Amino acid sequence: LKDLKVKNHKGEVKIGELKIGSNELVVMAGPCAVESREQILKAAEEVKKNGGQILRGGAFKPRTSPYSFQGLGEEGLKLLAEAREKKGLKIITEVIDSEAIELVDNYADILQIGSRNMQNYGLLKKLGKVDTPVMLKRGYAATIKEWLLSAEYIISHGNPDVILCERGIRTFETATRNTLDLNAIALVKELTNLPVIIDPSHGTGKRSLVNPLAKAGISVGADGIIVEMHPNPAEALCDGEQSLTISDFALLIDDLEKVAKAV
Ligand code: PEP
Ligand code: MN
Repeated sequence: LKDLKVKNHKGEVKIGELKIGSNELVVMAGPCAVESREQILKAAEEVKKNGGQILRGGAFKPRTSPYSFQGLGEEGLKLLAEAREKKGLKIITEVIDSEAIELVDNYADILQIGSRNMQNYGLLKKLGKVDTPVMLKRGYAATIKEWLLSAEYIISHGNPDVILCERGIRTFETATRNTLDLNAIALVKELTNLPVIIDPSHGTGKRSLVNPLAKAGISVGADGIIVEMHPNPAEALCDGEQSLTISDFALLIDDLEKVAKAV
């Protein structure tokens, strides 16, 4: 890993007043996908009420099956922007291809690059040319070195505001959706000074495991979490099994505040 240069980064990503990678615990939460005005406004209200700073929600979804719900597109972006205005939050949403960068960048405070696109180098180079921070999720079969080199693609093309996100990797294990790599969190904090966020929702695939793994991630040094939370997970169009209910989410935030104080 000697040839990596990411250590030269300034260590914090600022979005207005909010600093990601500082001492403040960053909470990004919301549904996997934006589904309706009612759903996203309710989720936003709960994020705000519990002290979260960033609302998540996909408008363009990278689904494994072409027959699954693909997201509301620009309509979803508009609903996120409305939720941001009404609740005073920042928004993070995914860009799934180069053609959509400009459109998504018109709305988002942070551009999310999904696991499946971590090594889409054409996309990464173009993200070097935008002024908006980028959260780069780890590819589900990418080594730590490959992940950090992907971060360098964005940084070396001109955008230093990269946030790393560990979201679990594919291992021999099938009892969980992915294996959240706690080693990686501690190691990238050693190797780089980029902010690191953990995603225990995709990292486990199972609602009951989100709380313990979120606590574990913060304990090993993550700067914050991104979690899926849905007003009614049973009816979710995407990732309902791993989505926290509103009350699970409130409990998680209480727990995390205790853990963050202890580390
Ligand atoms: C998501 O955040 O909903 C998502 C699609 O994540 P990943 O790219 O990590 O699978
Ligand atoms: Mn999801």
